[in-house]
Amino acid sequence: MLNRRNFLKNTSLLAAGSFLAGNTASANTLSSAAKNFGLQTYSLGNELGQDVAGGLKRVGEMGYVTLELAGYGNGKINGVDMQEFKKMAEDAGLKITSTHVNPPVSTYTNENKAEIAEFWKKAVADHAAIGCKYIVQPGQPSTRNTEEVALVGEVFNEAGKIAKAAGLIFGYHNHSGEFARVAPAAAATAPTEGEGGGRRRRQEGMKIIYDAMLEGTDPSLVVFENDVYWTVMGQQDPVAYMKKYPDRIRLLHIKDRAVLGETGMMNFQKIFETAYEINISDFFVELEGYSGGQFNGVKGCADYLLNAPFVK
Ligand code: MG
Repeated sequence: MLNRRNFLKNTSLLAAGSFLAGNTASANTLSSAAKNFGLQTYSLGNELGQDVAGGLKRVGEMGYVTLELAGYGNGKINGVDMQEFKKMAEDAGLKITSTHVNPPVSTYTNENKAEIAEFWKKAVADHAAIGCKYIVQPGQPSTRNTEEVALVGEVFNEAGKIAKAAGLIFGYHNHSGEFARVAPAAAATAPTEGEGGGRRRRQEGMKIIYDAMLEGTDPSLVVFENDVYWTVMGQQDPVAYMKKYPDRIRLLHIKDRAVLGETGMMNFQKIFETAYEINISDFFVELEGYSGGQFNGVKGCADYLLNAPFVK
C-alpha cells in the first residue's frame, strides 16, 4: 500500500514527473513533509475521540509527521486499543515517537516507590509494544522542599531504568510550577537565631525545582522535554536552559498561549535555532483551550511552522 509516508519518501519522482502539477493541495502536503514536527494529541481534546482514524488522517495532511500520545489508561489510549491506535496513525503517515503518562500517585514516599515502579513497568511494556521511543511524565509531583525533590529524582531514575531496559527513554515535562524555588524542610522550621537567622538560612538553601530535578537525576536515565511556553510563564528562558543543559533537554513542547505565533510573546526562531544547535529532533506542538475548534487551531499551528523559514 502506498501510504503517505512511503509516497513522500519518493519525492524524487515528483521532480522527474509532473503528475501533481496544478494540484496545489498535494503540493503543499508534499512540501510540508520536509519539515520535522509532531503533535501532542492532547491538543485535539475531545474532538479526536469522535473519529480517531479520520482525525489522525487530518493531522497527517496538515503536515505533522510524528505523534506524542496522551490519554493512556488501562492499556489503552483514550479507550482505543493501542495496536489499533498505532495502525490508524501509520495509515495517516504518522509515527508515534512519544507518550505522556502520569503515575497513579503524585506524592512520592519511600513506602510507595515500589508501587510507582510497578506502574511504570506496565506502562513501559505497553508502549514498547507500539514502538514508542520516549515515555514522558507530564505532571509535577509534590516538590514542597528539597528533600521531596531529591526523592522525585530517585523515583525518576528508577522509571528511567525500567524504560531503558525495554529500549525506551524516560522523560519529564514541565509546566511553570517547576520554576518556583524550594528550601530544605529543616530550614522552614529552623528557629530564628539572632537577626533573621532562620530566614537567611532558608534563602541560602533555596533552589529552582527544575534545576534540582535536572541535577538530581541520572543523565543516562532521565531526559527532559522542555515546554517552552510554560518555561516562559515560569519567568525563565527556554533557550538559556537548552544552552545550559544541551544533553538533558532532548524534546520540546512547541506551545504558545494561542495558535503558535499569535501572541508574539514566544521567540520561536531563537528556540528552533538553539534546538537544532543541540541536535534536538523531537518537537511536539501543543495547543490548549483554543475556542475556535481544536482541529482548526492545530492546523493553524502547523501552517505557522510550515511558513516559518527557521523551521526545518
Ligand atoms: Mg506541554
